[in-house]
Amino acid sequence: MKIICIGRNYVAHAKELNNPLPTNPVFFLKPDTSIIIRNRPFFYPDFSKDIHYEVELVLKISKNGRHIPEKFASTYYDEIGIGIDFTARDLQQQQKEKGLPWEIAKAFDGSAPIGKFLKLDAYQDTSKIQFHLLKNSEKVQDGNSELMIFSFNKIVSYVSQFITLKMGDLIFTGTPAGVGPVKIGDRLEAFIEDQKMLDFRVK
Ligand code: ZN
Repeated sequence: MKIICIGRNYVAHAKELNNPLPTNPVFFLKPDTSIIIRNRPFFYPDFSKDIHYEVELVLKISKNGRHIPEKFASTYYDEIGIGIDFTARDLQQQQKEKGLPWEIAKAFDGSAPIGKFLKLDAYQDTSKIQFHLLKNSEKVQDGNSELMIFSFNKIVSYVSQFITLKMGDLIFTGTPAGVGPVKIGDRLEAFIEDQKMLDFRVK
């Protein structure tokens, strides 16, 4: 399986990092070795001094597809979860300045903790899903899928023009404003609506 991550999908987050708004989805990949499951701890890597959390809604692909038209895209995912797109902001900044790829800043081991998944048909309106992140019990990020620049269907359709999507693949759909650093000892708790989906510590 693979993990596809959408960058700059919320206006307020693009602005906080001084990035221009994209005209098409921007995406990058993480390998399966980035995943952390079952609320296991994230171990702070020694190659960075500025690891940031980015809370994101995550789609799980339910059948294989390529060149998926946007109007059929919703039949290619049936579960939603939440995850953290850990980012070594110091390394990412260096890479951006040199015009180099982001993998060392985004795709490292443990950079994608994910929580449990829920069937999407539990939601009446999948274009309005609220989610938030607590850091040490304080709300640091608050998002809603209605604020995304590119919808779930647009993302699935666009990515599948380039990369075949396979059952079990995950798509991180971008982070809202409020990203920030973590330090050893922090606890992160992520919620969809009022339901806690992910709860782990930084060690
Ligand atoms: Zn992200």
